[in-house]
Amino acid sequence: MSRFMSRRFDGLEAYVPGEQPQDMQYVKLNTNESPFPPSPAVFAALNDSETARLNLYPDPEGRVLRQKLAALYGVDMENVFLANGSDELLNFFFMAFCDQERPVAFPSVSYGFYPVYASLYNLPRAEIPLHEGFRLEPADYCGIRKNIVIANPNAPTGRTVSVAEIEEIVRTNPDHAVLIDEAYIDFGGESCVGLVSKYENLLVGQTFSKFRSLAGGRLGYAIGSRTLIEDLDKIKYSTNSYNINRLTMAAAAAAIDSNDYYVQNSRIIQENRAYTAAGLEELGFETLPSKANFIFTRCPQVEGGRLYRSLKAKGVLVRRWDKPEISDYCRVTIGNREQMDIFLEKVREILKEG
Ligand code: PMP
Repeated sequence: MSRFMSRRFDGLEAYVPGEQPQDMQYVKLNTNESPFPPSPAVFAALNDSETARLNLYPDPEGRVLRQKLAALYGVDMENVFLANGSDELLNFFFMAFCDQERPVAFPSVSYGFYPVYASLYNLPRAEIPLHEGFRLEPADYCGIRKNIVIANPNAPTGRTVSVAEIEEIVRTNPDHAVLIDEAYIDFGGESCVGLVSKYENLLVGQTFSKFRSLAGGRLGYAIGSRTLIEDLDKIKYSTNSYNINRLTMAAAAAAIDSNDYYVQNSRIIQENRAYTAAGLEELGFETLPSKANFIFTRCPQVEGGRLYRSLKAKGVLVRRWDKPEISDYCRVTIGNREQMDIFLEKVREILKEG
């Protein structure tokens, strides 16, 4: 930190994103991207005439895209908010709703950006421990009078909470905003978007980065009550009113039109998830049940750090954290069958090498 930087960031530890190596071709299973390219309709939408319009600002309200998302989820356009990746949605959530009187609560093992935003805004926070097997106990969140962020499925574990359990959490904290981060919902989980019409305090966050193969486009969104969406809008128009660029907006609209393509891809990923977990089980690994496009797994014979490094040396990148409760685990993104076969083969080699 330089002598110029504001002292209020003294204690801030920035988020460290997963590696995006430029040096060599890895089998890249470390940042939960889709192994599939965007749909042909997305390629067609990113055409010369859209590029030619790049001299003009995009629609700050993103009306075409919000209408499409509203139709997809059976809500009104006023219930939809667009963000530059769901990371920006998280940023706006922490900025808009949390303060000294309204602390934020989230699970102690979850998406690493939550504590970073809490630090960025100097917020009092409750990091609520998970239970045996990284299970989230809904009762820990009921009536706690705090704003709440829960990733469902959770990252990096892949475990889920039921819609009924989420409803109980939302219902018992009526004066606080609850964000359910559904970045990984489209790989077999059950979305709680249906609860939005019932609860003014609920926001559901989703992203185009995983299921819709558009991580490079940076687009996230929230579905929520008009009240919360208006609050988010106020923050957006005080931060960056043109937060979604023209090409991403065109690509995303085309992606919604080709929903079937992505549903089919998700089916393949779910098959590959079961295939990979079964392959690992044969090798003695312990893998948590996952409804996401990744699995969280550990090997009783090989320590997590060593497994991560050995895989990297063999050209396979996975993700691993030094945090004590999870340091023995690796998070493995589910890719296509060929990638998963290479991953399993390299794991076998590492076990043989002892
Ligand atoms: N939430 C969770 C739980 C995530 O794992 C991620 C991606 N790493 C995000 C949000 C952010 O995704 P994006 O900004 O690409 O939408």
